[in-house]
Amino acid sequence: MFSKPRPPPQNFRVIHQPVQDDKDTNMDVDKPTTPLPPNVYMVPNVPVEKPGPNWLRMVCISDTHNTTDINNYSIPEADVLIHAGDFTKMGTTAQIDQFICWMKSLTNIPLKIIIAGNHEVTLEKEFYETNWSKFHPAKEDQDAAVNMLRTAGHGIVYLDNESCNIDGAKILYKKWRKNEKQNMKGKTLQQIHAEGAAAATASETAAVDPRQDWIEGYKVWGSPWQPEFFNWAFNEERGKLHEIWKLIPTDTDILITHGPPEGHGDIVPENNNLHAGCSELLARLKDVKPLYHIFGHIHQGYGVSQIEWPPEPTIDGHQLVSPTVCINASTCTVRYRPLNSPIVVDLPPK
Ligand code: 5GP
Ligand code: MN
Ligand code: MN
Ligand code: MN
Ligand code: MN
Repeated sequence: MFSKPRPPPQNFRVIHQPVQDDKDTNMDVDKPTTPLPPNVYMVPNVPVEKPGPNWLRMVCISDTHNTTDINNYSIPEADVLIHAGDFTKMGTTAQIDQFICWMKSLTNIPLKIIIAGNHEVTLEKEFYETNWSKFHPAKEDQDAAVNMLRTAGHGIVYLDNESCNIDGAKILYKKWRKNEKQNMKGKTLQQIHAEGAAAATASETAAVDPRQDWIEGYKVWGSPWQPEFFNWAFNEERGKLHEIWKLIPTDTDILITHGPPEGHGDIVPENNNLHAGCSELLARLKDVKPLYHIFGHIHQGYGVSQIEWPPEPTIDGHQLVSPTVCINASTCTVRYRPLNSPIVVDLPPK
């Protein structure tokens, strides 16, 4: 079930991996030992101003596990928040509701892109139906759990092996804000689009479809799946995950998965420094080469690293390839205490 501990790939370079001291008073997370990649920050070391006009500020968190009571995590104002899963303890509708209320309260962030993790047991239908009784004696409404996220509004976009486009989602958010006044609360961005599209011309319709590349912008793809570990939701046997990862579009700029790729923010110190990340995800990363890969799940792997890709041969030479910045945004420590800062990225206009 576990892969053997092995050294990370040659091109792996730890940029910032804080010592994971799981005591409230002795965290060293805001003192990077090596520089972070350009325009990547850890709260509270985030500049007030973005580097230029129309830059996109993205704040990454993960594995918050319904611990929203702690100082709201000092989440800074941003254009988009990414949550890489495990936002509840076990995915009851009450816990999902608590999470959504928290997201809604972040009114200084118009967009919140969310994926599930293995703890969101109600969000995987098949797993819920066969395993829920082991988690809780009282039944939950599985359809309602998914619908709560899909219809939350307030710029919440839930991705389950799906893409979205940040610019497109922003336009839809503005529509949603406008329509909110017209009593359209509780509708998804997609529903609002569908209603808006009925009145729109063909060209306008093409310009507001959240699931297509109708406008230039950063392309995001998100998935809750991770290698099997005990018996949790969105678990897949190692060796079979490539079936999921082949769904990642090769033009993805920002990849969000619950778990890390092998060798990057995936060390489990309690398990003989095992690299618990997914080797099949690392293999797919080499095809996709996203600008950012945001994940969590292995709480101890919190931090930022960077993968340098070899230049790609062209007809008249070689072309440099942008590195992939790997962000393990796990907010909670291994003891489920929310002590790790949000990680902020400023992206230039695309
Ligand atoms: P969670 O229960 O929140 O999904 O994961 C919490 C912790 O479980 C991680 O920080 C890590 O210690 C452990 N864990 C999760 N997945 C794996 C895995 O695949 N292998 C090992 N060894 N530990 C894991
Ligand atoms: Mn977790
Ligand atoms: Mn690519
Ligand atoms: Mn690319
Ligand atoms: Mn997890």
